[in-house]
Amino acid sequence: MARQAQIGVTGLAVMGRNLARNFARHGHTVAVHNRTAAKTRDLVATFGHEGDFVAAETAEEFVAALERPRRLVVMVKAGAPTDAVIDEFAPLLEPGDMIVDGGNAHYLDTRRREAALRERGLHFVGCGISGGEEGALNGPSIMPGGSPESYQALGPLLESIAARVDGEPCCAHIGPDGAGHFVKMVHNGIEYADMQLIAESYDLLRKVAGYEPAHIAEIFRKWNTGRLDSYLIEITAEVLAHRDADTGRPFVDIVADRAEQKGTGRWTVQTALDLGVPVSGISEAVFARAISGHADLRAASASLPGPQLPELHPDDAARFADSVEQALYASKIVAYAQGWHLMQAGSAEYGWDLDLGTMATIWRGGCIIRARFLNRIREAYHRGGEAPVTLLADATFTEALRDAQVGWRHVVSQATALGVPAPGFSAALAYYDALRSDRLPASLVQGQRDFFGAHTYQRVDREGSFHTLWGDDR
Ligand code: NAP
Repeated sequence: MARQAQIGVTGLAVMGRNLARNFARHGHTVAVHNRTAAKTRDLVATFGHEGDFVAAETAEEFVAALERPRRLVVMVKAGAPTDAVIDEFAPLLEPGDMIVDGGNAHYLDTRRREAALRERGLHFVGCGISGGEEGALNGPSIMPGGSPESYQALGPLLESIAARVDGEPCCAHIGPDGAGHFVKMVHNGIEYADMQLIAESYDLLRKVAGYEPAHIAEIFRKWNTGRLDSYLIEITAEVLAHRDADTGRPFVDIVADRAEQKGTGRWTVQTALDLGVPVSGISEAVFARAISGHADLRAASASLPGPQLPELHPDDAARFADSVEQALYASKIVAYAQGWHLMQAGSAEYGWDLDLGTMATIWRGGCIIRARFLNRIREAYHRGGEAPVTLLADATFTEALRDAQVGWRHVVSQATALGVPAPGFSAALAYYDALRSDRLPASLVQGQRDFFGAHTYQRVDREGSFHTLWGDDR
């Protein structure tokens, strides 16, 4: 009998190829397949020495090469191609076999596909994979959804190739059907917010403190030795220190200031709107990228008046930089708290019973938001007793926010006074202040709604729904 593979990967572009190599490097026999067979041959010719690959030219050969129950990882372009590949392979599989979609699918598509394949006796595992091509090769963070039975068969394989932190794999069973792709989407939303907050920090250090990129790189390097220690801060320092080889100018000055997006940030915000969860840190980040791309609006608005930027005394600039560090840390806590709230709401909506500490554990390595900070979130959810309603109410974070708030408020007020946009910092502070407010003006909004639309309101002193006959007392 021909050699049988423990796992198969179809879709051998950057992600699939590196994932297949990662499996092979960990001693697994890997069947490899791609629509265009030249990519399969190229993989085996170039990296065949790294491990045991079984190259399959056709779908039938690929399926026949897999030991049972079959574990088939799909790494193709998300959307219609994923459906096309499922339609091609599902008829060739048998009950108990597993199709793992490692692409960036929308969790509602994953729910639909899982339900359809379950009817045919197949397991469909929507699996978030984070860390880009480098992570796929050297250890990603892996978020598989699907049935617990499928995780029993897949878990050891996936855990063997995942990143590891303190001996623990950055991979865990997330929950049924679309849970894995849902948390991957929220991961990416949080990533957007984190990147935006770091970008605002840079902008303020440049425009208000008057620092050059190379100096700001040094500041980020210093921050990276403290509580902000993270992959994103580390690479920010690298980018800021980089000079363009052609012009000798700082790299950030020769790059067009239009940020792009692939869509997972937008999905996060759309989902949050549907579930009624305020994720203002993520939405401001998505909108900041959208504003940056509107060249027409920006050109038409370039002559709008604004304040002059002052020249700060070096001591004041250094003090301001310390405040920016506080604003960044506090706003980051808020952004992550909002992301965790969204996962809590998704879990309740779809009955996933997510363990909210797990995501902090498996995002500590392999993925873009990996950071020491995640240990604190993990502790907040694994302390025992009631899980916090919001991360802001966990003692560790409450204390950090208390310590940071003077600097945070100073930075937001300076940004506003000096005309430097800081939507992430401002939205985070507004969210924090809204949650801590004794009374919100929502009472007035309810009054307005009752006035024009008889929408009724609740009272603070009595149960029930009330409506005022507004014309009568005028
Ligand atoms: P990609 O550019 O998204 O997709 C290319 C692959 O899809 C090729 O193997 C291509 O086959 C195959 N494909 C496209 N349409 C197909 C169809 N109708 N039938 C069969 N195969 C089809 O590749 P990628 O960047 O490696 O990403 C793979 C998946 O991982 C995507 O869902 C992506 O969103 C996700 N992902 C990517 C990253 C990243 O950093 N790139 C990170 C995490 C997740 P041919 O060679 O025959 O054209």
